[in-house]
Amino acid sequence: MTDAPYRLAGRRVWVAGHGGMVGAALVRRLAREDCEILTVGRAEVDLRRQSDVEAWLADVRPQAVVMAAATVGGIQANDSRPAEFIYDNLAIETNVVHGAWRCGVEKLLFLGSSCIYPRDAAQPMAEDALLTGPLEATNQWYAVAKIAGLKLCQAYRRQYGCDFITAMPANLYGPGDNFDPASSHVIAALLHKAHEAKTAGADSLAVWGSGRPRREFLYVEDLADALAFLLQNYSGEAHVNVGAGKDIAIGELAALIAEVTGFAGDLAFDPSKPDGTPRKLLDVSRLRALGWAPSTGLRDGLAQTYRWYCENALA
Ligand code: GDP
Repeated sequence: MTDAPYRLAGRRVWVAGHGGMVGAALVRRLAREDCEILTVGRAEVDLRRQSDVEAWLADVRPQAVVMAAATVGGIQANDSRPAEFIYDNLAIETNVVHGAWRCGVEKLLFLGSSCIYPRDAAQPMAEDALLTGPLEATNQWYAVAKIAGLKLCQAYRRQYGCDFITAMPANLYGPGDNFDPASSHVIAALLHKAHEAKTAGADSLAVWGSGRPRREFLYVEDLADALAFLLQNYSGEAHVNVGAGKDIAIGELAALIAEVTGFAGDLAFDPSKPDGTPRKLLDVSRLRALGWAPSTGLRDGLAQTYRWYCENALA
């Protein structure tokens, strides 16, 4: 087992899932670390197929792996496609973690999500709240898969001495997000809908649910920086929460998004859509004690994401 600190310089680092929002941000961040970044496209390697993953690992032999590959989506996608969310994520995790052990990967970082915690966990949610109560129903399939991934890393550490670590990020947003309103998370959905409403001269913006649930949002460039930090400075069985340290009500978020996008109409809350879990705020004291803190405020992050959307997502 390698002990922290782990030096990325000169290492071959596979970013699994480099095409997604998190993977792409990691590739940008790791470019500053003097390591060799390895990536492979979906058409070449389907991470849900064990033989594909084993062949790729045997071929490229990475020394470090970051698992940013996952089937992800917002509350409606999670709720309506449970089989995909549980199967894809379990398959990706077992294939990559087992394959990494077999080919002698020195360091692996697995990414979970704050939805692994019980629906009614005390706030802010500390790492030891895991498995102390029932999960939120709308994303339980994804949460169960992510809990299994965390446990896989712990098991391979215990039995084989692998330096596999796990991080649990808050709700993420930023450049490269999925802006399709049917499957996206709330920030991308509302940026898109507010932009469309402004452009169409509409007088209201549809916001799902009551507006009362509270969420913690972390800018993806900050997440990538935290992951580069953890790879180099953390080695341990316990998972580490990665968050901004504050949350906001969805209604307030929608008002802020209206401001950032220049939409001047009303917010129309739609109670026929689910609220999901009432509050998700991570206790980030473990990560703070290790020496990392985020640097992007929500308003700045939203403005940068909106700029990215206008330049890249409006085809
Ligand atoms: P969650 O953290 O798994 O619930 O993920 P989401 O980002 O999908 O949703 C967060 C909260 O935002 C929930 O309470 C949603 O009901 C609310 N929300 C409001 N408007 C929207 C929208 O247009 N899309 C999504 N995905 N959520 C919305």
